[in-house]
Amino acid sequence: MTRAISLHSVSKVYGRATRAVDRFSLDIDPGEFVVLLGPSGCGKSTVLRMIAGLEDITEGELLLDGERSNHMPPRERGMAMVFQNFALYPSMTNRDNIGFPLRLENPRQDSSERVEATARMLGIENVLDRYPSQLSGGERQRVAMGRAISRRPSAFLMDEPLSNLDAKLRNHLRAEIAQLTADLGVTTVYVTHDQAEAMSLGDRVAVMRGGVLQQVSSPREVYALPRNVFVAAFIGTPRINLLQAVVYAPLQGRMSIDLGRQRLPLPEPLSPDHQLLRIQQGRQIIVGLRSEAARIAPASQARPGEVALSGIVEHMEYQGHEALVHLNTGSRPAVVPDLESPRPRTAPRRRRGGPGVLERLRERAAAHVPGHVSGPVVVLDEPEADASATYTPDRPAITASDLVVRTGPDMRLRTGAQVPLLVDLAHLYVFDHYGRRICPAPMDMPGLDM
Ligand code: ADP
Repeated sequence: MTRAISLHSVSKVYGRATRAVDRFSLDIDPGEFVVLLGPSGCGKSTVLRMIAGLEDITEGELLLDGERSNHMPPRERGMAMVFQNFALYPSMTNRDNIGFPLRLENPRQDSSERVEATARMLGIENVLDRYPSQLSGGERQRVAMGRAISRRPSAFLMDEPLSNLDAKLRNHLRAEIAQLTADLGVTTVYVTHDQAEAMSLGDRVAVMRGGVLQQVSSPREVYALPRNVFVAAFIGTPRINLLQAVVYAPLQGRMSIDLGRQRLPLPEPLSPDHQLLRIQQGRQIIVGLRSEAARIAPASQARPGEVALSGIVEHMEYQGHEALVHLNTGSRPAVVPDLESPRPRTAPRRRRGGPGVLERLRERAAAHVPGHVSGPVVVLDEPEADASATYTPDRPAITASDLVVRTGPDMRLRTGAQVPLLVDLAHLYVFDHYGRRICPAPMDMPGLDM
């Protein structure tokens, strides 16, 4: 039996103030493979542990197959967990390790057939009679998986199960896990901070930041239609180019996006998406360009939808099958807090007799109209999502390289050379000051029929 798992507005508060998970909602279908993805400390493991029953739920509801199960003992949930630091019993053979949960469940039943079948599935039949210390890292992790599978759980909960392995083995086991869980048809929730792993494994990827779910979509959609600048920056290698910009929309004449030293003219007639940018006139926005959205070519070779820009070559990164060209276009890169460094959120302190002055100021700042922002500060929380967040206003210098573009591996470019670029506007993202994607326009935008 495989389980449907639903979390409805689930929060976890540690101690009095650390809100590790904040109103997290997700419905996982039976047999689905969902990856929880985000930087270290964003609350992924806490969500997993709440599903497993290893952590109390502070607020909200956990439903297993539609039944409220907040307080169901872990044992009764019938789920199997696989951890990063898989613990096998060193004094037991691998056969005994795999059969251990079965013996625990039913000491009198002969489990040997189930153990053999599990080992065959994982390709470890020939090491069953050895001890864990006699195995390679990959084999040990397979035994750990075997122990999880042998009981035929109703769901797999995997917490960074491959992090301790080398890159080659990780790729190999990743493919095996995908195959195995698909064959078994068991609901799987998989935690990782590695976006490539998430993209290759998940039916859906749930991206988290600071305890808050940012987006849950298919891998294709989180890449192509990131809901906000955090998701855009977290997914994809090399990282998306994010530039601070201002929309220039004169009453007469062509609309353009001002990148600092250069402008991206928007082609006439304006697309419905670009028309929507008019209301951003004069406001600070963030332009997102993936490295494949621009190419090195002269304006004379522009295809429909491509506009010209130029850049100075800072350096080239040879990758074998391609090269990455780091360019200086005179733009100001946008800063995305929390991408690397964890920052647990503390719950706002409520005083008796209403909010204090500081709180009121924060609330006012959070309700701030995007147009009134001064300076190139990039903030990322939606105001309604987190009124208590504080930001470090960051005014990064114009760095040497602000745009990374992909080229063929044979392209030879001299450092310091000025090169013409063509930017494909069909692959241009625009985010507002809060980091929310506004172009391409979100599907759920009211009054928009696209
Ligand atoms: P992730 O799995 O994304 O790395 P975790 O879910 O482990 O993140 O942790 C989320 C946040 O909760 C972190 O800031 C972490 O320090 C905090 N946290 C986790 N466990 C505890 C605990 N037992 N007590 C207090 N804080 C905790």
